[in-house]
Amino acid sequence: MKQWILGIMSLVVVVYSAAVQANSNTIENVRVWPAPDNTRVVFDMAATPEFSYFTIYDNLPYRLVIDFENTGRKVDLTKVKVDSLLIRKLRTSTPKSKSSTRIVFELSEKVDPQVFALAANDTYGERLVVDLPGRSIERTGPALSASQLQERKVTIAIDAGHGGDDPGSIGPSGTYEKNVVLKISRALADIINADPAMQAYLVRTDDYYLKHLTRVRKAEQVKADMFLSIHADAFTSPQPRGGSVWVLSNRRANNEMGRLLENKERLSEVLGGVDVSASSDDSSSYLSETLISMSMDHAMASGYEAATEIIDEMERVTKMHKTKPQHASLAVLTSANIPSMLVETGFISNPTEEQLLLSNKHQQQLARAIYQGVRRYFTRKPPDGTYFATNRAARHVVKSGESLSVLAQRYNTSVNAIKERNNLRSNVLKIGQVLEIPSAP
Ligand SMILES: [Zn+2]
Repeated sequence: MKQWILGIMSLVVVVYSAAVQANSNTIENVRVWPAPDNTRVVFDMAATPEFSYFTIYDNLPYRLVIDFENTGRKVDLTKVKVDSLLIRKLRTSTPKSKSSTRIVFELSEKVDPQVFALAANDTYGERLVVDLPGRSIERTGPALSASQLQERKVTIAIDAGHGGDDPGSIGPSGTYEKNVVLKISRALADIINADPAMQAYLVRTDDYYLKHLTRVRKAEQVKADMFLSIHADAFTSPQPRGGSVWVLSNRRANNEMGRLLENKERLSEVLGGVDVSASSDDSSSYLSETLISMSMDHAMASGYEAATEIIDEMERVTKMHKTKPQHASLAVLTSANIPSMLVETGFISNPTEEQLLLSNKHQQQLARAIYQGVRRYFTRKPPDGTYFATNRAARHVVKSGESLSVLAQRYNTSVNAIKERNNLRSNVLKIGQVLEIPSAP
Protein backbone atom coordinates (compact mmCIF):
# COMPACT_ATOMS: atom_id res chain seq x y z
CA MET A 1 0.00 0.00 0.00
CA LYS A 2 2.71 2.43 1.00
CA GLN A 3 4.84 1.46 -1.97
CA TRP A 4 1.92 2.04 -4.26
CA ILE A 5 1.46 5.57 -2.90
CA LEU A 6 5.18 6.24 -3.20
CA GLY A 7 4.97 5.06 -6.79
CA ILE A 8 2.25 7.57 -7.56
CA MET A 9 4.12 10.30 -5.73
CA SER A 10 7.32 9.80 -7.66
CA LEU A 11 5.28 9.84 -10.84
CA VAL A 12 3.87 13.22 -9.81
CA VAL A 13 7.38 14.45 -9.04
CA VAL A 14 8.58 13.39 -12.47
CA VAL A 15 5.68 15.21 -14.13
CA TYR A 16 6.34 18.47 -12.32
CA SER A 17 10.12 18.32 -12.18
CA ALA A 18 10.41 20.41 -15.32
CA ALA A 19 8.67 23.34 -13.64
CA VAL A 20 9.77 22.94 -10.00
CA GLN A 21 13.09 21.64 -8.71
CA ALA A 22 12.16 18.25 -7.21
CA ASN A 23 12.72 17.37 -3.59
CA SER A 24 13.11 13.64 -3.13
CA ASN A 25 13.11 13.95 0.65
CA THR A 26 11.08 15.86 3.25
CA ILE A 27 11.62 16.92 6.86
CA GLU A 28 8.33 15.74 8.31
CA ASN A 29 8.83 16.69 11.93
CA VAL A 30 11.45 17.89 14.42
CA ARG A 31 11.65 16.66 18.00
CA VAL A 32 13.89 18.11 20.69
CA TRP A 33 14.84 16.02 23.76
CA PRO A 34 16.84 17.95 26.36
CA ALA A 35 18.55 15.76 28.99
CA PRO A 36 20.75 16.92 31.89
CA ASP A 37 24.00 16.34 29.97
CA ASN A 38 23.00 16.57 26.34
CA THR A 39 20.30 17.56 23.90
CA ARG A 40 19.13 15.26 21.16
CA VAL A 41 17.33 16.74 18.18
CA VAL A 42 15.61 14.32 15.84
CA PHE A 43 14.54 15.18 12.32
CA ASP A 44 11.88 12.76 11.09
CA MET A 45 12.54 12.27 7.39
CA ALA A 46 10.48 10.85 4.55
CA ALA A 47 13.55 8.99 3.26
CA THR A 48 17.21 8.38 4.20
CA PRO A 49 18.75 11.84 4.60
CA GLU A 50 21.68 13.09 2.51
CA PHE A 51 23.31 15.81 4.53
CA SER A 52 26.39 17.79 5.44
CA TYR A 53 27.06 20.14 8.32
CA PHE A 54 29.52 22.64 9.73
CA THR A 55 29.86 24.88 12.76
CA ILE A 56 30.53 28.61 13.00
CA TYR A 57 32.32 29.32 16.25
CA ASP A 58 34.46 32.34 15.38
CA ASN A 59 31.64 34.83 15.73
CA LEU A 60 28.35 35.13 17.57
CA PRO A 61 25.86 33.62 17.62
CA TYR A 62 27.56 30.22 17.66
CA ARG A 63 25.93 28.13 14.96
CA LEU A 64 25.57 24.59 13.76
CA VAL A 65 24.44 24.55 10.13
CA ILE A 66 22.98 21.46 8.50
CA ASP A 67 22.29 21.18 4.78
CA PHE A 68 19.76 18.57 3.73
CA GLU A 69 20.25 17.71 0.05
CA ASN A 70 17.18 17.34 -2.20
CA THR A 71 14.95 18.00 0.74
CA GLY A 72 11.85 20.05 1.39
CA ARG A 73 10.17 20.74 4.68
CA LYS A 74 6.68 20.14 6.03
CA VAL A 75 7.37 21.22 9.60
CA ASP A 76 6.99 24.80 10.81
CA LEU A 77 10.13 25.41 12.88
CA THR A 78 8.51 28.22 14.86
CA LYS A 79 6.09 25.61 16.26
CA VAL A 80 8.83 23.25 17.47
CA LYS A 81 9.20 23.25 21.25
CA VAL A 82 12.87 23.97 21.97
CA ASP A 83 13.44 23.64 25.68
CA SER A 84 17.19 23.21 25.94
CA LEU A 85 19.72 25.50 27.59
CA LEU A 86 22.06 24.71 24.68
CA ILE A 87 19.82 25.78 21.81
CA ARG A 88 18.92 29.45 21.58
CA LYS A 89 17.04 29.14 18.34
CA LEU A 90 16.23 26.70 15.60
CA ARG A 91 15.62 28.32 12.21
CA THR A 92 15.98 27.97 8.46
CA SER A 93 18.37 29.95 6.32
CA THR A 94 19.02 30.52 2.63
CA PRO A 95 19.79 27.08 1.16
CA LYS A 96 22.81 26.23 -0.97
CA SER A 97 20.54 25.32 -3.86
CA LYS A 98 16.85 25.44 -4.66
CA SER A 99 16.39 21.77 -3.91
CA SER A 100 18.10 21.74 -0.50
CA THR A 101 17.07 22.90 2.96
CA ARG A 102 19.38 24.64 5.40
CA ILE A 103 18.67 24.43 9.12
CA VAL A 104 20.57 26.59 11.59
CA PHE A 105 20.95 25.88 15.30
CA GLU A 106 21.91 28.96 17.27
CA LEU A 107 23.87 27.59 20.22
CA SER A 108 24.68 29.05 23.61
CA GLU A 109 28.00 27.16 23.78
CA LYS A 110 30.64 25.80 21.44
CA VAL A 111 29.82 22.12 21.47
CA ASP A 112 31.08 19.19 19.45
CA PRO A 113 27.94 17.93 17.69
CA GLN A 114 27.38 14.40 16.49
CA VAL A 115 25.16 14.25 13.43
CA PHE A 116 24.09 10.89 12.05
CA ALA A 117 21.27 9.11 10.24
CA LEU A 118 19.14 6.45 11.93
CA ALA A 119 17.23 3.87 9.91
CA ALA A 120 13.51 3.31 10.36
CA ASN A 121 12.35 0.99 13.16
CA ASP A 122 8.96 -0.16 14.50
CA THR A 123 8.20 3.23 16.03
CA TYR A 124 9.88 5.80 13.82
CA GLY A 125 10.77 6.26 10.19
CA GLU A 126 14.09 7.43 8.75
CA ARG A 127 15.74 10.04 10.98
CA LEU A 128 18.61 12.45 11.18
CA VAL A 129 19.85 12.74 14.75
CA VAL A 130 21.83 15.64 16.17
CA ASP A 131 23.44 15.04 19.57
CA LEU A 132 24.71 18.14 21.32
CA PRO A 133 26.74 17.39 24.46
CA GLY A 134 26.48 19.85 27.34
CA ARG A 135 24.22 20.91 30.16
CA SER A 136 20.75 21.24 28.69
CA ILE A 137 18.35 21.39 31.62
CA GLU A 138 18.64 22.58 35.18
CA ARG A 139 20.10 19.82 37.27
CA THR A 140 17.92 18.11 39.83
CA GLY A 141 18.77 15.57 42.47
CA PRO A 142 20.28 16.20 45.87
CA ALA A 143 23.89 16.38 46.92
CA LEU A 144 24.62 15.27 50.45
CA SER A 145 26.20 17.71 52.89
CA ALA A 146 28.47 16.62 55.72
CA SER A 147 25.80 17.14 58.38
CA GLN A 148 23.34 15.07 56.43
CA LEU A 149 25.89 12.29 56.34
CA GLN A 150 25.96 12.09 60.18
CA GLU A 151 22.54 10.58 60.31
CA ARG A 152 22.11 10.42 56.66
CA LYS A 153 19.05 9.50 54.74
CA VAL A 154 19.12 6.42 52.61
CA THR A 155 19.24 7.48 48.94
CA ILE A 156 17.06 5.61 46.48
CA ALA A 157 17.95 6.10 42.82
CA ILE A 158 14.77 5.74 40.78
CA ASP A 159 15.31 5.09 37.11
CA ALA A 160 12.26 5.52 34.91
CA GLY A 161 13.01 3.20 31.98
CA HIS A 162 13.38 4.30 28.34
CA GLY A 163 12.51 7.92 27.42
CA GLY A 164 12.92 10.33 24.55
CA ASP A 165 13.35 8.55 21.26
CA ASP A 166 12.87 5.18 22.98
CA PRO A 167 9.18 4.77 23.94
CA GLY A 168 9.68 1.32 25.49
CA SER A 169 6.74 -1.02 25.01
CA ILE A 170 3.53 0.34 23.52
CA GLY A 171 0.11 -0.75 24.80
CA PRO A 172 -2.77 -1.83 22.54
CA SER A 173 -4.42 1.58 22.86
CA GLY A 174 -1.14 3.41 22.23
CA THR A 175 0.17 4.01 25.76
CA TYR A 176 3.94 4.49 25.88
CA GLU A 177 5.82 2.66 28.62
CA LYS A 178 8.25 5.61 28.98
CA ASN A 179 5.39 7.93 30.05
CA VAL A 180 3.70 5.57 32.50
CA VAL A 181 6.94 4.60 34.22
CA LEU A 182 7.97 8.24 34.59
CA LYS A 183 4.69 8.96 36.37
CA ILE A 184 5.12 6.00 38.71
CA SER A 185 8.74 7.01 39.34
CA ARG A 186 7.76 10.57 40.19
CA ALA A 187 5.02 9.35 42.53
CA LEU A 188 7.53 7.02 44.19
CA ALA A 189 10.03 9.88 44.58
CA ASP A 190 7.39 12.06 46.27
CA ILE A 191 6.47 9.31 48.75
CA ILE A 192 10.13 8.60 49.52
CA ASN A 193 10.95 12.29 50.01
CA ALA A 194 8.14 12.58 52.56
CA ASP A 195 9.88 9.92 54.67
CA PRO A 196 12.45 11.38 57.11
CA ALA A 197 14.68 8.33 56.63
CA MET A 198 14.93 8.40 52.86
CA GLN A 199 15.48 10.60 49.86
CA ALA A 200 14.86 9.96 46.21
CA TYR A 201 17.10 10.69 43.28
CA LEU A 202 15.35 10.62 39.92
CA VAL A 203 17.81 9.33 37.34
CA ARG A 204 15.58 10.45 34.47
CA THR A 205 13.54 13.56 35.27
CA ASP A 206 11.79 14.11 31.98
CA ASP A 207 11.22 12.75 28.50
CA TYR A 208 14.74 12.06 27.21
CA TYR A 209 16.87 9.00 26.66
CA LEU A 210 19.84 7.91 28.79
CA LYS A 211 22.19 5.03 28.05
CA HIS A 212 22.06 2.11 30.51
CA LEU A 213 25.56 2.69 31.79
CA THR A 214 24.83 6.41 32.26
CA ARG A 215 21.85 5.50 34.43
CA VAL A 216 23.96 3.23 36.62
CA ARG A 217 26.78 5.77 36.89
CA LYS A 218 24.40 8.55 37.86
CA ALA A 219 23.19 6.38 40.73
CA GLU A 220 26.79 5.71 41.72
CA GLN A 221 27.61 9.43 41.60
CA VAL A 222 24.95 10.28 44.19
CA LYS A 223 26.11 7.28 46.24
CA ALA A 224 22.71 5.68 46.07
CA ASP A 225 21.95 2.92 48.56
CA MET A 226 19.58 1.26 46.15
CA PHE A 227 18.85 1.42 42.44
CA LEU A 228 15.32 0.81 41.17
CA SER A 229 14.63 0.74 37.46
CA ILE A 230 10.91 1.09 36.79
CA HIS A 231 9.40 -0.57 33.70
CA ALA A 232 6.25 -2.09 32.26
CA ASP A 233 6.34 -5.49 30.62
CA ALA A 234 5.07 -6.53 27.19
CA PHE A 235 4.40 -9.75 25.34
CA THR A 236 3.42 -10.65 21.80
CA SER A 237 0.00 -11.89 22.95
CA PRO A 238 -2.37 -9.84 25.12
CA GLN A 239 -2.95 -12.50 27.82
CA PRO A 240 0.02 -12.27 30.20
CA ARG A 241 -0.38 -9.82 33.04
CA GLY A 242 1.06 -8.99 36.43
CA GLY A 243 4.19 -7.48 37.91
CA SER A 244 7.64 -8.96 38.53
CA VAL A 245 10.94 -7.90 40.07
CA TRP A 246 14.29 -8.70 38.45
CA VAL A 247 17.75 -8.82 39.99
CA LEU A 248 21.24 -9.21 38.58
CA SER A 249 22.05 -12.72 37.38
CA ASN A 250 25.22 -14.48 38.43
CA ARG A 251 26.41 -14.75 34.86
CA ARG A 252 26.02 -11.06 34.24
CA ALA A 253 27.74 -10.39 37.56
CA ASN A 254 30.72 -12.48 36.49
CA ASN A 255 30.94 -10.72 33.13
CA GLU A 256 30.71 -7.36 34.81
CA MET A 257 33.40 -8.34 37.30
CA GLY A 258 35.66 -9.33 34.43
CA ARG A 259 35.07 -6.00 32.70
CA LEU A 260 35.68 -4.06 35.89
CA LEU A 261 38.99 -5.79 36.50
CA GLU A 262 40.08 -4.62 33.05
CA ASN A 263 39.06 -1.03 33.72
CA LYS A 264 41.31 0.24 36.52
CA GLU A 265 39.81 3.70 36.70
CA ARG A 266 36.27 2.48 37.10
CA LEU A 267 37.37 -0.29 39.44
CA SER A 268 38.94 2.25 41.75
CA GLU A 269 35.69 4.23 41.76
CA VAL A 270 33.59 1.21 42.57
CA LEU A 271 35.94 0.26 45.38
CA GLY A 272 35.49 3.71 46.89
CA GLY A 273 38.69 5.36 45.74
CA VAL A 274 41.13 2.49 46.38
CA ASP A 275 44.00 3.16 44.02
CA VAL A 276 44.46 0.10 41.88
CA SER A 277 46.05 1.86 38.93
CA ALA A 278 49.64 1.75 40.21
CA SER A 279 49.53 -1.86 41.27
CA SER A 280 50.14 -4.50 38.68
CA ASP A 281 51.48 -7.34 40.79
CA ASP A 282 49.42 -10.46 41.33
CA SER A 283 48.66 -9.99 45.01
CA SER A 284 46.96 -6.61 44.53
CA SER A 285 44.94 -7.74 41.52
CA TYR A 286 43.88 -10.71 43.62
CA LEU A 287 42.89 -8.25 46.35
CA SER A 288 40.80 -6.10 44.00
CA GLU A 289 39.17 -9.20 42.60
CA THR A 290 38.26 -10.31 46.09
CA LEU A 291 36.97 -6.87 47.05
CA ILE A 292 34.89 -6.59 43.93
CA SER A 293 33.43 -10.03 44.29
CA MET A 294 32.55 -9.36 47.94
CA SER A 295 30.93 -6.07 47.00
CA MET A 296 28.99 -7.75 44.22
CA ASP A 297 27.91 -10.68 46.35
CA HIS A 298 26.64 -8.23 48.92
CA ALA A 299 24.83 -6.07 46.35
CA MET A 300 23.27 -9.15 44.77
CA ALA A 301 22.15 -10.68 48.06
CA SER A 302 20.72 -7.35 49.24
CA GLY A 303 19.00 -6.83 45.92
CA TYR A 304 17.37 -10.24 46.18
CA GLU A 305 16.20 -9.61 49.73
CA ALA A 306 14.79 -6.19 48.90
CA ALA A 307 13.12 -7.61 45.77
CA THR A 308 11.34 -10.16 47.97
CA GLU A 309 10.00 -7.38 50.21
CA ILE A 310 8.85 -5.35 47.20
CA ILE A 311 7.04 -8.36 45.73
CA ASP A 312 5.27 -8.96 49.07
CA GLU A 313 3.99 -5.39 49.01
CA MET A 314 3.12 -5.34 45.31
CA GLU A 315 1.03 -8.48 45.75
CA ARG A 316 -1.31 -6.46 47.93
CA VAL A 317 -2.14 -3.98 45.17
CA THR A 318 -1.66 -5.82 41.88
CA LYS A 319 -1.54 -9.26 40.30
CA MET A 320 1.98 -10.67 40.18
CA HIS A 321 3.28 -12.50 37.12
CA LYS A 322 6.15 -13.92 39.18
CA THR A 323 6.05 -14.23 42.96
CA LYS A 324 9.81 -14.76 43.38
CA PRO A 325 12.58 -12.38 42.28
CA GLN A 326 13.78 -13.25 38.78
CA HIS A 327 17.41 -13.30 37.69
CA ALA A 328 18.24 -11.44 34.53
CA SER A 329 21.19 -10.31 32.53
CA LEU A 330 20.09 -6.74 31.97
CA ALA A 331 22.39 -3.88 31.15
CA VAL A 332 20.81 -1.60 33.72
CA LEU A 333 21.44 -4.11 36.53
CA THR A 334 25.21 -3.97 36.52
CA SER A 335 26.20 -1.85 39.47
CA ALA A 336 28.84 -3.70 41.44
CA ASN A 337 28.10 -2.00 44.72
CA ILE A 338 24.48 -0.84 44.71
CA PRO A 339 21.69 -3.35 45.28
CA SER A 340 19.81 -3.02 41.99
CA MET A 341 16.40 -4.14 40.87
CA LEU A 342 14.23 -3.81 37.83
CA VAL A 343 10.53 -3.59 38.67
CA GLU A 344 8.08 -4.56 35.94
CA THR A 345 4.92 -2.85 37.16
CA GLY A 346 2.60 -4.88 34.93
CA PHE A 347 2.02 -5.85 31.29
CA ILE A 348 1.26 -2.81 29.16
CA SER A 349 0.43 -5.28 26.36
CA ASN A 350 -2.55 -6.55 28.36
CA PRO A 351 -5.53 -4.21 27.69
CA THR A 352 -6.78 -4.35 31.31
CA GLU A 353 -3.37 -3.64 32.76
CA GLU A 354 -2.70 -0.92 30.22
CA GLN A 355 -5.75 0.93 31.56
CA LEU A 356 -4.69 0.25 35.15
CA LEU A 357 -1.19 1.56 34.48
CA LEU A 358 -2.71 4.72 33.03
CA SER A 359 -4.83 5.38 36.12
CA ASN A 360 -3.43 7.78 38.64
CA LYS A 361 -4.83 5.71 41.51
CA HIS A 362 -3.07 2.54 40.39
CA GLN A 363 0.19 4.43 39.76
CA GLN A 364 0.03 5.76 43.33
CA GLN A 365 -0.73 2.30 44.72
CA LEU A 366 2.20 0.75 42.88
CA ALA A 367 4.51 3.55 44.02
CA ARG A 368 3.40 3.14 47.63
CA ALA A 369 3.85 -0.64 47.48
CA ILE A 370 7.39 -0.32 46.12
CA TYR A 371 8.13 2.27 48.81
CA GLN A 372 6.81 -0.01 51.57
CA GLY A 373 8.95 -2.88 50.31
CA VAL A 374 12.07 -0.70 50.21
CA ARG A 375 11.31 0.63 53.67
CA ARG A 376 10.83 -2.85 55.11
CA TYR A 377 14.17 -3.90 53.66
CA PHE A 378 16.08 -0.96 55.15
CA THR A 379 14.33 -1.32 58.50
CA ARG A 380 15.60 -4.87 58.61
CA LYS A 381 19.08 -4.11 57.21
CA PRO A 382 19.88 -0.49 58.09
CA PRO A 383 23.18 0.72 56.63
CA ASP A 384 25.56 2.14 59.29
CA GLY A 385 25.24 5.82 60.07
CA THR A 386 21.77 6.16 58.57
CA TYR A 387 18.57 7.41 60.05
CA PHE A 388 17.34 3.81 59.84
CA ALA A 389 20.21 2.61 62.02
CA THR A 390 19.81 5.27 64.70
CA ASN A 391 16.01 5.28 64.75
CA ARG A 392 15.59 1.57 64.60
CA ALA A 393 11.98 0.50 64.81
CA ALA A 394 11.01 -2.52 66.87
CA ARG A 395 9.59 -5.47 65.02
CA HIS A 396 6.52 -7.05 66.46
CA VAL A 397 4.76 -10.27 65.45
CA VAL A 398 1.05 -10.03 66.26
CA LYS A 399 -0.20 -12.65 68.71
CA SER A 400 -3.72 -13.74 69.57
CA GLY A 401 -5.71 -11.12 71.46
CA GLU A 402 -3.48 -8.16 70.55
CA SER A 403 -4.97 -4.99 69.06
CA LEU A 404 -3.45 -1.78 67.77
CA SER A 405 -4.35 0.09 70.95
CA VAL A 406 -2.78 -2.61 73.14
CA LEU A 407 0.44 -2.39 71.12
CA ALA A 408 0.41 1.41 71.09
CA GLN A 409 0.23 1.38 74.89
CA ARG A 410 2.89 -1.25 75.32
CA TYR A 411 5.37 0.52 73.04
CA ASN A 412 4.47 4.00 74.24
CA THR A 413 3.36 5.19 70.82
CA SER A 414 0.04 5.91 69.10
CA VAL A 415 -2.35 3.81 67.04
CA ASN A 416 -2.00 6.27 64.18
CA ALA A 417 1.79 6.16 64.27
CA ILE A 418 1.72 2.37 63.94
CA LYS A 419 -0.89 2.51 61.19
CA GLU A 420 1.03 5.11 59.23
CA ARG A 421 4.34 3.32 59.57
CA ASN A 422 2.84 0.06 58.32
CA ASN A 423 0.55 1.54 55.71
CA LEU A 424 -2.51 0.00 57.40
CA ARG A 425 -5.92 1.02 56.17
CA SER A 426 -7.97 -0.72 58.86
CA ASN A 427 -7.56 -1.44 62.55
CA VAL A 428 -7.87 -5.18 62.05
CA LEU A 429 -4.70 -7.16 62.80
CA LYS A 430 -3.99 -10.75 61.79
CA ILE A 431 -2.17 -13.24 63.98
CA GLY A 432 1.39 -13.61 62.69
CA GLN A 433 1.35 -10.21 60.97
CA VAL A 434 4.71 -8.42 61.26
CA LEU A 435 4.54 -4.78 62.32
CA GLU A 436 7.17 -2.11 62.57
CA ILE A 437 6.73 -0.19 65.77
CA PRO A 438 8.00 3.39 65.48
CA SER A 439 9.82 4.83 68.48
CA ALA A 440 7.86 7.11 70.81
CA PRO A 441 6.88 10.41 69.19
ZN1 LIG B 1 11.02 -1.41 29.74
